[in-house]
Amino acid sequence: MIFDKVLEIYQKYYICVHCLGRMFSLLGTCTTNYDRGSSLLLAITMENHKNYLSGDDALQKKAINNLKLLAENANYIPSQKVLNNEGLNYVKNETKQVCYLCNNIFLDIHNYIEESKRILEEIEFNDFLIGSSPSAQIINREDRFKMEFKLLEAESFKSHFNRVIGKEITSNLNKFPAFNRPDALLIISLDFKIFNIKLTLKSLFIFGRYNKLIRGIPQTHWFCKKCMGEGCEFCNYTGKQYQSTVEDLISPEFLKASKASESKFHGAGREDIDVRMLGSGRPFIIELRNPKIRNLNLSKIERRVNKRNRKKIRINDLKYTNKKEVISLKSKAKDTKKVYKAIIKAENKIDKENFNQIVLKLKETFENQKIHQRTPYRVSHRRADKIREKFIYQINGKYIKPTIFEFTLETQGGTYIKELISGDEGRTTPSFSEIFNSKLVCKELDVLKISL
Ligand SMILES: [Zn+2]
Ligand SMILES: [Zn+2]
Repeated sequence: MIFDKVLEIYQKYYICVHCLGRMFSLLGTCTTNYDRGSSLLLAITMENHKNYLSGDDALQKKAINNLKLLAENANYIPSQKVLNNEGLNYVKNETKQVCYLCNNIFLDIHNYIEESKRILEEIEFNDFLIGSSPSAQIINREDRFKMEFKLLEAESFKSHFNRVIGKEITSNLNKFPAFNRPDALLIISLDFKIFNIKLTLKSLFIFGRYNKLIRGIPQTHWFCKKCMGEGCEFCNYTGKQYQSTVEDLISPEFLKASKASESKFHGAGREDIDVRMLGSGRPFIIELRNPKIRNLNLSKIERRVNKRNRKKIRINDLKYTNKKEVISLKSKAKDTKKVYKAIIKAENKIDKENFNQIVLKLKETFENQKIHQRTPYRVSHRRADKIREKFIYQINGKYIKPTIFEFTLETQGGTYIKELISGDEGRTTPSFSEIFNSKLVCKELDVLKISL
């Protein structure tokens, strides 16, 4: 019998109405734990009031005991009023009672709601989720309590607490909870005495394309080779090998606009430091972590980045994207087609007629053919030594001077162009150098086009 169980509880402990309702949460729907708890107390009071009025001595005696129990131990006002009206005594508890289960967290819940609201009001979000992590003390005490009274229809402290706060946020801020990847996640750590709230905001992902208009800028951060990032005389105590990077030039405007705590740059592959990125640009995704602002004026950011970095880098084609696209951006980078422009210098002089013959032979050898590239010497310290097969689509050459030629090459993504030209001492075969029958170096290289 539920009533007996409630009376049994108050013989031993004081618990608040919210916690009382939570102990029977699976019974009755479409109501709150508070209403469950207060309905129980009211119903028990009515039942005992009826028994008191019944005229049966035994029933009356028991009813008085029960009403006193609720008046004194549950501090329940309707029971106190019934006793007063019937001229019966009870001992009024003058000190404020503290709920054995929640230490009055539920009675003071407005504190938690106000603090959560204050945090959420400072940010821009569409949906949210409230989570909580009650201390072991709270959880253990409640578990023992449920066992002691064999309370099988109780709800957990956590879900009760989260729901109450969530409901208030929804009605106060007119925002709705999302259980899967919410924009704003609030985790409330609870103790019997103190609490703190941690806010985690879902990252924003923005797709774009960048052009690198000058040589000598790496895509992302490189640590200083001398000090490995510690800071030394060589790097002017910056810890950086290169003073600016594509990432460093692009990110600040995004960070400023979104008020994010940090950003991460994901490129669809990367060009060498001395290679320009021209044409429609290289796709990238910038990840903004913990952004307080989510609705960004992307065209304004684009204009600001481009204005600030005139003649260095440019961005275009900005749009919102998501985390999944970061993975596909990286995996697709291997399957892209790229068009390059290369300025080649030969050791031997070559006349124009001879050059035209060489171009024909290059076309015959390479176009729509596979080449074999062993990991180049210059990157062998950081890449696994293996032989890669790469596909060459198209080659066109232009005579500039007896030792200088310009080529456009269309190749599979990941082809080492400098080595395709030089041969890398036999590590790339076939190579331009073999066909030219001369030592060749790639003096300048630009990426003209990347198609995903
Ligand atoms: Zn309580
Ligand atoms: Zn250094």
